[in-house]
Amino acid sequence: MILELKISSNDMELIQMELESNKPYEACGVLIGNINGNIANVEKVLPVRNVKRTTRSFELDPEQFYSAWNDAEKYGKEILGVYHSHPSSCAIPSTWDRETMENAPSVWLIAGADGMRAYVWEDGVKPVKLTGY
Ligand SMILES: [Zn+2]
Repeated sequence: MILELKISSNDMELIQMELESNKPYEACGVLIGNINGNIANVEKVLPVRNVKRTTRSFELDPEQFYSAWNDAEKYGKEILGVYHSHPSSCAIPSTWDRETMENAPSVWLIAGADGMRAYVWEDGVKPVKLTGY
């Protein structure tokens, strides 16, 4: 189980910019990198189009997601998880997020109006330590 997510300040800024530029809709994308024991290291943040384009949920554009997955594979990296934004609410998984997380057990990074937090699903939503560097 992932206990910690490491992400550079540049990548956090990119997510913050995506949050701002997609307002009032949710922004989303994938986190690519490597997993070392219980630590997931983000090496690349890749914004993906939110095909739902709503203020309450998101859905990654399947073609862009497939190409991200392909690229990660090609460079020997992993898709660590997804990020999405809550432009006008806290960085806490919504009911919809929880239901989706249960079927997508990877790291979930949420950029909320109150900052960023990360989670995984392991018999329920568990917080992941978010370390910026
Ligand atoms: Zn959400």
